[in-house]
Amino acid sequence: MSLDISTLPKAAAARLAKLGIKRAFDLVLHLPLRYEDETHLYPIVDAPVGAPALVEGTVVHAEVTYRPRRQLVARVADATGELYVRLLNFYPNQQQQLALGRRVRLLGEIRRGFFGEEMVHPKIRSVGEQTGLAESLTPVYPTVNGLAQPALRKLIAQALKQCELSDTLPPKLLDDLGLMPFAAAVQLLHHPTPDIAQRALSERTHAAWLRLKFDELLAQQLSMRLAYRRRREQTAPILSAAGTLAQQLIATLPFGLTGAQQRVLAEIRHDLASPHPMQRLLQGDVGAGKTIVAALAALDAIEAGYQVALMAPTEILAEQHYKKLSAWLAPLGIEVAWLAGSLKPRAKAAAIAQVESGAARLAIGTHALFQESVAFAQLGLAIVDEQHRFGVHQRLALRGKGGSPHQLMMSATPIPRTLAMSFYADLDVSVVDELPPGRTPIKTRLVSDARREEMIEFVRKVAHEGRQAYWVCPLIEESEALELQTAIDTHIALAEALPEYQVGLVHGRLKAAEKAEVMAAFARNELQVLVATTVIEVGVDVPNATLMVIEHAERMGLAQLHQLRGRVGRGALESSCVLLYSGPLGEVAKQRLKVIFETTDGFVIAREDLRIRGPGEFLGSRQSGVPMLRFADLERDTDLLEQARDVASQLLERAPAVAEAHLARWLAGREELLKT
Ligand code: ADP
Ligand code: MG
Repeated sequence: MSLDISTLPKAAAARLAKLGIKRAFDLVLHLPLRYEDETHLYPIVDAPVGAPALVEGTVVHAEVTYRPRRQLVARVADATGELYVRLLNFYPNQQQQLALGRRVRLLGEIRRGFFGEEMVHPKIRSVGEQTGLAESLTPVYPTVNGLAQPALRKLIAQALKQCELSDTLPPKLLDDLGLMPFAAAVQLLHHPTPDIAQRALSERTHAAWLRLKFDELLAQQLSMRLAYRRRREQTAPILSAAGTLAQQLIATLPFGLTGAQQRVLAEIRHDLASPHPMQRLLQGDVGAGKTIVAALAALDAIEAGYQVALMAPTEILAEQHYKKLSAWLAPLGIEVAWLAGSLKPRAKAAAIAQVESGAARLAIGTHALFQESVAFAQLGLAIVDEQHRFGVHQRLALRGKGGSPHQLMMSATPIPRTLAMSFYADLDVSVVDELPPGRTPIKTRLVSDARREEMIEFVRKVAHEGRQAYWVCPLIEESEALELQTAIDTHIALAEALPEYQVGLVHGRLKAAEKAEVMAAFARNELQVLVATTVIEVGVDVPNATLMVIEHAERMGLAQLHQLRGRVGRGALESSCVLLYSGPLGEVAKQRLKVIFETTDGFVIAREDLRIRGPGEFLGSRQSGVPMLRFADLERDTDLLEQARDVASQLLERAPAVAEAHLARWLAGREELLKT
């Protein structure tokens, strides 16, 4: 007869569900937050002050006083000394426990208080002469209102007895890895004996913790790998081309491809020529030149007789791609369709018809492209720019569209290695790890808000030299209206201060067409200064812009600052980024500004960002239901992650049944990871 959560009273089951506990085995994996030591009794005189201690004695005095407020005050004595017990709220049964002459065991922290040495609200247990001490530490579990520790402890103890805890991994493998058996590990974590170093438990460095973390990472690796394999089993059109179109485009470029661009293009071509859908992430720092790589890949697909979709997260960016790619592709006689959310119905219908008839070989747009029912005549390749903006969830959404096209995802947010190894383990990754030549490094300055006037002079100087500047207004998370107003005010102020130049304004409330118009005017240098809210964050490319001023930089995240700064330094001209801040700065803001000031290396920044924010925030997948790791820590457990990755390959290769058993134990109820 095993423990069955579904047979528990509804209210109890609902509370467990809040803790993520849906099956008995989830109880086994519900690990303590900390422990209380009830294995050792202190004589009162020896009990430490300020640390939890268990003492036992007789109540020698008890009363309810009203000064300074209503409370129950008792005095408990053993052979060595005495202390006060104070309860500010109490129930009749506690009054009985603390009645004169009763023996009690108290667990709490002694401090020097109002009445002398005292415990306030200790855990109180009535004891007889024979009551034994606990043999192991008492676990304290994460819980929710209405589910008391003793009830939860009982359920977990029951689960530990009744669930199948035998190992999913062969003993030989465990030996090789130096891992302890699963059953012993969970038993130990729930009920450690007092001789186990508390630090190793709280810091999760104990061998028992390592085993759980390893198992969790292994399950993650296995599921990602299986998802990858399953996708590779699907068929996709073979897009092998002589590369004639690509060659024609390259011949018209004012630059040659960098070595990194050539290498990643070769990797992509290799995938496109295979009969299974490519799932490749193209990573490269801002300005690394991913767009041309995508365009060349698109040309191969088109040459092979298929259509290509290119998706961007914002309309500004999509439009910019549309302009750039039509300029590149139109001379080659290739029709490009523009599918924006903001198109008038007639224009939209026409664009959709172009795509459906197959007349348009490339379709560019925002989410609208795949959210609405656009049916491609022959979709061969889907390209997603700034993939991290879509989140992993949306990555899944696109997969279903138009059969199994090849997919190329581009991201300018470098993904730290550990994160790539875990959450992107179902993708192949190419990295453009070289910036085009001739770029002058960006100078970053941290400037106090008090020197704003000076910065306006700096803008004037830049404009005077024929260059352009961005001025980014503060992010005001609490109020979009206020953010907009600030941008409008800043625009007025800068226009007044710089009457000899044209100052434009772009913000999120503008219609897409209006935004695009402003951006286009800036790109043509009809505007020398562009005041913007953070809408320009992603992907905008105006090489003549050499100054970026960011107001209230302390409010922005690292990735955002890096992206913003990446809008300048895109040509050979020396560029500057001025981070205006106003103090006093919080600890996190200080850390962020220090990082952004010290380095322009996107990978270093991403690693720090991951450290400061944690993987959930970093991936932006809190809401999208991606199961986060509960036990392992990507930064500290890199070695385990690497082991898990290797073991996952081995098992899938040589012992698929073991892999399956391991996944069944760890991933029940989280099958979404396995969907393709
Ligand atoms: P990102 O990788 O951030 O998307 P882009 O594709 O927008 O970067 O490229 C940034 C700029 O660098 C563009 O103006 C692009 O034309 C230019 N560029 C790309 N590749 C090269 C190259 N090999 N040599 C010189 N300039 C290049
Ligand atoms: Mg880009």
